[in-house]
Amino acid sequence: MEKAFRTKRLWLVIATIVIAVICAMCLVACGDDESSGDSGTHTVHKYENYVCTVCGEYAPDAPVTEGLSYVELEEYDEEKDERVVVGYAVVGIGESIDNDITEIFIPKSYNDKPVMCIGDYAFYNRSSLSNIVIPNSVTRIYPVAFYNTAYYNNESNWKDDVLYIGNYLIQAKDTLSGSYAIKQGTRVIADSAFMDCSSSLTSITIPNSVTSIGRDAFYGCRGLTSVTIPNSVISIGINSFRFCGSLTSVIIDKGVTIIDSGAFYGCVSLTSVTIPNSVTLISMEAFAYCTNLKNIKYNGTMEQWEAIAEDGWDVDMVHWNTGANRTKYIETIECTDGTITLSND
Ligand SMILES: [Zn+2]
Repeated sequence: MEKAFRTKRLWLVIATIVIAVICAMCLVACGDDESSGDSGTHTVHKYENYVCTVCGEYAPDAPVTEGLSYVELEEYDEEKDERVVVGYAVVGIGESIDNDITEIFIPKSYNDKPVMCIGDYAFYNRSSLSNIVIPNSVTRIYPVAFYNTAYYNNESNWKDDVLYIGNYLIQAKDTLSGSYAIKQGTRVIADSAFMDCSSSLTSITIPNSVTSIGRDAFYGCRGLTSVTIPNSVISIGINSFRFCGSLTSVIIDKGVTIIDSGAFYGCVSLTSVTIPNSVTLISMEAFAYCTNLKNIKYNGTMEQWEAIAEDGWDVDMVHWNTGANRTKYIETIECTDGTITLSND
């Protein structure tokens, strides 16, 4: 009896070691980059078109396109008290590149800073461009970036009315209807991807690999009834769910830090919203004109809620109706240790 127990325990120890080794290997393979996705654990990268389909890392032999055009991305640095360049946006092909270019491998960095965005109209009308590769340093894709490229115009690149480039969701057609599950491993939902979609699109499943939901991503998707935002998501973009008039409930999992301005503006059917205590910024008009939203459930303390307010925004803005009569709809914030009643003046 005792021997059997000991054997069992030995196996448990061995199993633990094996799991630990596998995890360590995964970290070596894919955890060395903060921006790498963790949509799955793998010991060996699975490259497709020179990009790992799991973590988004480039293959060591991936070609990189030189001569693209960039603009600097700046952020205010508190210590230096000045704006500093934190990265780059690729905004098009440079003069040295042939107009008929067929393939573009966007570099991960430029001038030793990460390439973080793809600008609007960046590759618009590049009608011979049939292969585009995006590195996992990219966290935002502006509208129309790839419109009318050969890649965009090739029907076989669209799966169920949705166009991806690697793990980036670029665009959904307005014929998309019913329930749609975004591909596992997707990192970014591009700006305007589902904007003004058909009212027969009723549900979207966002996988636990998406880190950012772009500006206007679901703007005007009036058939959407509910959405769950998984804990992989860090930012909910400007106007991302604006005028989603059928949305009744929104659950935001812990992980989100920014709910950007107008994110749920005019979601008139919304009656239930849960906000995690990881949120540090709820921007202007994020919940304006949510006429049926009386209460927000906040998974943090009253003190934490007040701290969001002190960090540069006015509590009133969370429910501030900017219409003519400035009616406020949200009455209470239900925190873990009590309920805050919002003033109505
Ligand atoms: Zn990988």
